[in-house]
This record gives sequence, structure tokens and C-alpha cells, in this order.
Amino acid sequence: LLAMLTLGSAQAQKNKPMNKEQEIEQKVDALLAKMTLEEKVGQMNQYNGFWDVTGPSPKEGNAALKYEHLRKGWVGSMLTVRGVKEVRAVQKIAVEETRLGIPLIIGFDVIHGYKTLSPIPLAEAASWDMGAIQNSATTAASEAAASGINWTFGPNVDISRDARWGRVMEGAGEDPFLGSKVAEARVKGFQGSNRSDLGSPLTIAACAKHFAAYGFAEAGRDYNTVDISNATLYNTVMPPFKAAKDAGVRTFMNAFNILNGVPATGNSFLQRDILKGKWGFDGFVISDWASIREMIAHGYAEDGAEATLKAVKAGSDMDMESHLYIAELVKLVYEGKVDIALVDDAVRRILRVKYELGLFDDPYKYCDEKREKATIGSKANNESVLDMAKKSIVLLKNENQLLPLKKKGQKIALIGALADDKTSPLGSWRIASDDNTAVSVLEGMQQYKGNELVYEKGADLTVGKTTFLDELVFNTTDRSGFEAAKKAAKEADVVVMVLGEHGFQSGEGRSRTNLDLPGLQQELLEEIYKVNPNVVLVLNNGRPLALPWAAENIPTIVEAWQLGTQTGNAVAQVLYGDYNPSGKLPMSFPRNVGQVPIYYNQHSTGRPINSDNNVFWSHYSDVEKTPLFAFGHGLSYTTFKYGIIQLDKKEYSKGEPVKVSVDITNTGNYDGKEVVQLYIRDIAASLSRPVKELKGFEMVSLKKGETKAVTFTLTDKELGFYNNEGEYLVESGTFKVFVGTSSNNVQETTFKLR
Ligand code: BGC
Repeated sequence: LLAMLTLGSAQAQKNKPMNKEQEIEQKVDALLAKMTLEEKVGQMNQYNGFWDVTGPSPKEGNAALKYEHLRKGWVGSMLTVRGVKEVRAVQKIAVEETRLGIPLIIGFDVIHGYKTLSPIPLAEAASWDMGAIQNSATTAASEAAASGINWTFGPNVDISRDARWGRVMEGAGEDPFLGSKVAEARVKGFQGSNRSDLGSPLTIAACAKHFAAYGFAEAGRDYNTVDISNATLYNTVMPPFKAAKDAGVRTFMNAFNILNGVPATGNSFLQRDILKGKWGFDGFVISDWASIREMIAHGYAEDGAEATLKAVKAGSDMDMESHLYIAELVKLVYEGKVDIALVDDAVRRILRVKYELGLFDDPYKYCDEKREKATIGSKANNESVLDMAKKSIVLLKNENQLLPLKKKGQKIALIGALADDKTSPLGSWRIASDDNTAVSVLEGMQQYKGNELVYEKGADLTVGKTTFLDELVFNTTDRSGFEAAKKAAKEADVVVMVLGEHGFQSGEGRSRTNLDLPGLQQELLEEIYKVNPNVVLVLNNGRPLALPWAAENIPTIVEAWQLGTQTGNAVAQVLYGDYNPSGKLPMSFPRNVGQVPIYYNQHSTGRPINSDNNVFWSHYSDVEKTPLFAFGHGLSYTTFKYGIIQLDKKEYSKGEPVKVSVDITNTGNYDGKEVVQLYIRDIAASLSRPVKELKGFEMVSLKKGETKAVTFTLTDKELGFYNNEGEYLVESGTFKVFVGTSSNNVQETTFKLR
């Protein structure tokens, strides 16, 4: 009977119509069977498109060779080809001139918008608003997709605790829980919520990067060595990658760094054991730019052939611009050094994603000039990035209630070169958009006509060249604008100063050893404050800054990051109270560089000075050890009162949900939104656990005077942790739960887990 049943179900299986995924698998197999080894390796090869594909004169030396390879079917993907015209030109070669006509997958760094730019990703994370973040990625995807692109190299899900590292602007900050939520929102925003959504011409494939631990570069110096424990890898680095995988991300990018001695690109443990093994990831992995070749410099491979061998064995499926797979891999297979099964596996993964994108049905589905014209820079997209920009702003301090500004009868002095800058607020990673396309803060404020507005630059931010490839020079000594700025400040009721970093001061390769205001800005701030202390400091920056003097003296500080195309409108609406800020910091702001890395979810030292074991005697002799502004901090124009934290029980068995609730009341004069945060501490475990770990947050909108109850549910998913062997453990014992408005402003209670 059993045999019959089995047979019967096999028969039923056979007669059942295939689902989309099975259909794709069959097509992939059929195509793979037709491919020569050279064509297979070609699929694993990606070339940069920074060359003129439509004209006769290549912009890059080896462009002619790239054309030749493209025609032979030796290129599977291109990156940074811009615009429908160019994409169509290369796609036409792939589809019409190669033997099998396999379409290219076209990659691009759509990091925070395509042409219409949203805030830098770190700023977006400060919104703690997952709906808004998802929507922002959807907008970015639709613009990129209208421009011929079908794959973004994002989201960057690198956790980092080091503000010196320039690429913190690209991530979601220091926390793995928040980072995981943001990763999920971004993946769904780019790709849609289901795998089948990838077939829509409005979505693009996403890429979780940089796998893994790139954000833990020693001393915050980009590309530097990473040496961390497996427990840190599993508990802090991996969760956002896992969240991206679970949200259906179709590609991963590996990283430049070595991790505990082994380059990420040649790292089997990361790519084969964890990603493709344990997690069952069935999309493909792309190397980072020339990172396969970099393994030679890392001292991990003798030459290109060995680098290729190690990368392929470790599970790097596609070579971005090392030009090594195309040069070495065919030979390695013939020599018997690389098993053809590894090549087949890589190609199968790449073809699978191309089928899912629908590129075989219509290779030009992303090449619609009409759509390109209608979508890029559209009103709707500008509204979308403006919405995201307002939500990203964090009110750090508002002591004398200088904000919101009165709308009438005031004299306002606006000071600082960044206030009149239409480029810096765009931030780093904006390959498709031009300089001078942001709405400046000056332009944003000029729209409010009821006040008298005087603008004075005070001093230039930089001298010399300010393009991406040139180093920025900040040693300006020209104080000739100080007097006019001081005069304007003296005559004003309120001074708004826009200070911070140049847009290219953060981003890839842009690490800093100072976290201060570059150039003459600090001096200007102090001079202005002397003549008029009613200063609203608006920060434009791509990383946490260390501004102890400002935090101590300046009454009002607004963190406005680099907010993209709509910067000035967003800042003005917040300053004038047309939008009540609700952002919270996704990364701790240090008091000075010496405290870095500083992060809230640290471990206790063995020297507590209180019975709660959370204030400990490990300190500096010259500065407080607390951050200047803590993770999760952010104010509103209104005020919120928290009720007493409630648990439904005092003891729980493992697996039983722990319900934590609290009432929140809007006690101020404005309607507003509050991000209620929940942290836990596992008091004693088989591995020391952090003093606090974010495990829940919820954004509540409250009208003036309104009260709402917020309930969080903690399950094994939140209460456990990974040990150094990668096992997930939920251990019994006492837990603390904290609920509050920031990581350093909470109330607490305890429960026992049996
Ligand atoms: C970066 C990646 C990026 C790639 C392509 C690399 O230098 O590390 O994040 O996607 O370039 O532009």
C-alpha cells in the first residue's frame, strides 16, 4: 500500500502543472546543456560600462576588447551603463550577435535613488520608518528600471560601529536589529515582496553587500583588515544579511576585506558554508570590484590563476572587473583544477535570476524611452524623496524652544557655505545625477516669505577641487566673510547655521581620523555664538560627528545628514514646523574620536560600580565614556510621557511569548510621532551578552493629548543568541526588559525564562 501511495503521489506530482520556479529551472537546464565552456565562463564575467558603447571611440583603453568579448558571448553582465540608449546598444549585441543570444543583466549602484536622490541610507535609517524606507527603494527602483537598469548593488547592509569609516553613510548604522528591518524593507522596495514581482518592469534585483564584515575595518580605514570573533560575526554582522536573504534578495556581493585572515572573496566558510549551505541561498554572488584580483595583494593567491581558483571554489559566481575568470577559468577547468560542476552551479544561479527578471521573454523590457522620460525626475518621485527626507531628520537638541521658527515678523540670519550648496547635500554615490541638483537650504527657506532672511556664507567649506577623484582640501584660511556673517547674526532674532561635511567626505575610500567640522566651521560657529547665542545648528554630514562644544553650548541642533535632491525643502519644512521631526539616531555620536568604536550594545566590564551591573568602572581620564548623543536618541516638537512598563507575567517557559506593554501620551503642544524602543539584557548566559540589545520598536502617531498603548511580543527569536560555533541558543535565566525613548533613556523590569 505504501508503495502504491508513493507511486500515486509521484504520478500526481508529474501531472501537476509546473509552477513558475520549476519552469525556470527547466529552462535553465536546457540552456546550460547548449552552452560551451567559454560561454558558461562568459556568464560569470562582468564588465564596467564606463565607455562609449554607441560611438566609435572607446573611452577606456581596453574597450575594444570588451566589445569583442561581448560579441563572442563572453560577457554575462555589465555595470554602470547609463540610460536606455546605451543599455539597448549593449543588450542588442548580446541578444542579436552572440550564438545563444543570452541577455545581459545590467547592474548599477542605485544606493539612495537613481537620478532623483533620496537621503543617504544612514539618514533613511534614522527615520526608523520601514514603510517609508521601502517606498524610497521602490521609487529608486522604478527610476533605475526606467533607465535600462535591472539590478542594483544595494542594499548595503554592513553594520559599523566606527564613524571614521566613510561607508557608514551607506548602511543602516550600528545595530543588527534595526539593520535587519531596514535590509528587509530595502530588498522588498527594490524587488517587490515576492519572487514573482521581479518579473515586473518596475522592479530590479537587489544585492546584499558586502559579505561580510566589511564595516569592521580596523581603525575605520576603508578596505582594512577585519579580525572579529565568530560570535560577533553571527550576532552582529550576519543578521541583516540573513534578513535580506529571507526577504528574497537575489544577489549578494562579497567584500574587499580579509576576515580573520581569509579574504571574503575567497572565503568558503562565508559563501559556501553559511550563505549557500546553511541559508540555502539560490541566487548568485558577485565579487566586489576587482576583489578577486585583490586576493593577490592580500597575500592569499600567487597569481591570477590561483585567485580565480580560490574565488570559484569559495563560491564567488561572477567576477566584477578583475578580468580573471575570463582569462583563467576555461584553462583551469581543462586542467582539471576546477570541477565543471562548480562552473555549472554558478551559471545556473546567474541564468536563474535572468529568467526571473523576465529578460529572456523581453530583453528590452527595461528599455523604454517614453517611460524613461516620464519617470526620471517626475513630480511623484520628488514627492517621494521629500517625504523620506523629512522623516530622516533628527532633532538632537531644542533647549530654548527656538524651533519651530515663527513664521512671521522675525529676522533670520542663515550662515554657512553648506546652506547655499546644491551639491554636497546629494551625498556620495550619485553616479546618475548631476552636480547642483539639490534644493539648497537657502532655497528652501526663501520660500517662507513672512520673515526677513539674510544669507551670509561666512567661509568656504573647501578650497581647491571637489570632485570625487580628487582629495578635498579643507585648509582654507580665508576669514574675510566672518565680519559680514557676524553682523547678520547680531542683527537677527535667530541664526540658522548649516555646517557639516562636504558630500564627498564620506562614502567609499573616504575615511577620516577627525570627526569635527572641517575647515573654519567650528571657529565660525563659536564666533557667531558670541554675538548671538540664539543659534539653530543644522548639520549636514555623512557620518556621526563629534561636536562636544556645540552640544554643550548651542541650544538647538538638527541632524539633517545629506538628504538628497529635496534637502532644502525638507529642512525648511522642519525648521518652520510644517513637519514635526521624529527621527532617531541609528548610530551613536561620540564625544571625540578617541572613544570610537562607541556603540550602545557593548558588553559589561568586570568592574561594575552599581548593583545593576550596567555602570562600570572602565573609563577615560580625560572624557566621559558615554556618547555625546546616544543610539536611538531623537526629540520632537511635542513631548511624550511613558506610562509604567508592564509584563503579562513574571515567569515564562521557553517558546512562550513575553508580552511587554506601555502607554504613551502626547503631553505637548503638537501632534507627533514617537519611536518607542524595546531593549533586553540576558543577565547571565554561556556567552556574555550585551548590556542592552534592541529587540523591538514601534512608531506611534499621537495627537495632542492622545494616549496609546504599545505592546511588544518577545519570542525565542528575540531572546536567544549565537555562540562561536554558530549555534542559536535560548537559555533560561533572568532577563531585563527596557522600554524608552532612546537607548539611554529607558525604564526597566525583569522576568525569568524557565
Ligand atoms: C564598491 C561596491 C560597488 C562597486 C561597483 C566597489 O568599489 O565597493 O559597493 O557596488 O564598486 O561600483
